[in-house]
Amino acid sequence: MTPRKDWSPGNGAGTGFNAQPLHFMATSFIKKALGTEATEPAVTPPPASAPSTSFVKKPKLGAKSRKREIPEGLWTKCKKCSTMVFDKELDENLKVCPQCNYHFQIGARERIHSLVETCTFEELDAHMTSVDVLNFTGAASYLSKLEKYQKATGLKDAVVTGIGRIDEHRVALGIMDFAFLGGSMGSVVGEKLTRLIERATEKELPLVIISTSGGARMYEGMFSLMQMAKTCGALAYHARAKLPFISVLTDPTMAGVMASFASVGDLILAEPGAMIGFAGPRVIKDTTQAELPPGFQTAEFLLDHGLIDAIVPRKEMKQRLGEYIDFLMFNRKSAV
Ligand SMILES: [Zn+2]
Repeated sequence: MTPRKDWSPGNGAGTGFNAQPLHFMATSFIKKALGTEATEPAVTPPPASAPSTSFVKKPKLGAKSRKREIPEGLWTKCKKCSTMVFDKELDENLKVCPQCNYHFQIGARERIHSLVETCTFEELDAHMTSVDVLNFTGAASYLSKLEKYQKATGLKDAVVTGIGRIDEHRVALGIMDFAFLGGSMGSVVGEKLTRLIERATEKELPLVIISTSGGARMYEGMFSLMQMAKTCGALAYHARAKLPFISVLTDPTMAGVMASFASVGDLILAEPGAMIGFAGPRVIKDTTQAELPPGFQTAEFLLDHGLIDAIVPRKEMKQRLGEYIDFLMFNRKSAV
């Protein structure tokens, strides 16, 4: 009359003995419907020989389900001070840690939103996309990578270009996004920037390019490297027309981008703490066999050594750009 192994729905239905197991089955069903059952074992499953009673597991499942109630992506840990920052607060603060002023990377669209007057940005060449000229295949093909990053970022490539208004000035703006293949410069990034620079020259507009990049895009080989000369060539014509170019370096700006258009601004600004350089510190250390000075390749170090003109916190960027453009365009008027 009492063996547990005989507990099953319908077995001896209507007897007093089955009331308890039926109640238990109903409880299990309700819990499953509420999504509190784990889809994978919460702990190492007991050996097959151990009694399989759900009652033993229940407290552990409960603990697991409590964890799951905290939605993901609500908090971000600051890389510098380890404070947990509420994502909403971080967004409102332009992705700058309110505790230690660490500047997180920020997407191109968010940055445009933070810089130009509302509804004044007209994007250029928005649909230009890369082609796989080399039929590059590594761990994954170049085309599949492009597709993956286009889906993840909502961008067509690693730069957004267009014309917008900062204060009362119309400005040609190029803004890179590190989230798209490390902000690498391939043919599309180079071509979009070149067209932007040429448009700025033609329309007599000041130019601002905000860089963040790991360098040239290896998937396009030499075609990437050619973009360095092409962008700088277009900048030379822009400079000849006595138009100002402000280059803003953000974390990180390295290699082929730093070695071309990013380092030839009339005014070179950087965000606090940004890593800026050509080769990475490990490569330099191995090549020179010398100890690198503290703070090497940071914006602060480069300001001290004269490579950049000013460090501008993200929250002041719009106002400062407005002031600089005002000054430089006023001087141009008197020079022309
Ligand atoms: Zn912090």
